[in-house]
Amino acid sequence: MATCAVIGGCGFLGRRLAEMLLEQGYSVNVFDIQQTFEHEKMRFFNGNLCNKQDLLPALRNTDVVFHTASPSAASDNRELFERVNVDGMRVVIDACREAGVEKLVVTSTASVIYDGSDIMNATEDSPYAKRPMDYYTETKIKQEKVVLGANSSEDNFFTIAIRPHGIFGPRDQQMLPNVVKAARAGKMKFIVGNGMNLVDQTYVDNVVHGHIVAAKSLGEGSHTAGKAYHITNDSPVFF
Ligand code: NAD
Repeated sequence: MATCAVIGGCGFLGRRLAEMLLEQGYSVNVFDIQQTFEHEKMRFFNGNLCNKQDLLPALRNTDVVFHTASPSAASDNRELFERVNVDGMRVVIDACREAGVEKLVVTSTASVIYDGSDIMNATEDSPYAKRPMDYYTETKIKQEKVVLGANSSEDNFFTIAIRPHGIFGPRDQQMLPNVVKAARAGKMKFIVGNGMNLVDQTYVDNVVHGHIVAAKSLGEGSHTAGKAYHITNDSPVFF
């Protein structure tokens, strides 16, 4: 049975990924800076991903590493974003190589191509935003470049980035709770534009499915390795 490590496995997406991997027969190591739940069939490792010595025990003897951790997009702490998303990405790659991990799947964001103009039916050929909307996005662009640049078939090290936009589903602490909070506070009594704006939101299980399919696609002769993929539901939702 293959073993996977989920960095950020106590978060909204990471926990669901850990659960679905387990359901599909994988052994799962959860790595996170905090522990928010317990599960008798998962192994938990506590630490900061910026510290290789913290990471290594969770990554040894694993076949695939999923990196879903990030500071909250709502933060405005530029230094923290740089440290975790960019420097931390290099540490994760280093640790994977040292531990002999061959496949690394990183959660990026579709915001990396958004610079404020409307986007419909974007493809992965779209360029990175020249003026990212915030520090979060700026560092997610850098993170993607670092991880995709680390892909190396010669070294048997395969990487891929998955780009959801908004994620919704059980245990979401951010998107929907914030909408409800704003509505309750009477702050949603306006319409942006003509009310027909679309925002791409994906159900968490579909985002997880995309990560697992991405991991399965990696390996010798892979056509997906070293690339980023958008992930979405069938159709966007009005927002
Ligand atoms: P989350 O905040 O629920 O989970 C992130 C987890 O990472 C947390 O458990 C946190 O403790 C952990 N973490 C943060 N810094 C760490 C560190 N230095 N070391 C170890 N663990 C650390 O976030 P989420 O909503 O599950 O997002 C997961 C990923 O998906 C992120 O990379 C995020 O950028 C991306 N993403 C999320 C959304 C969304 O709508 N939620 C949309 C697009 C992309």
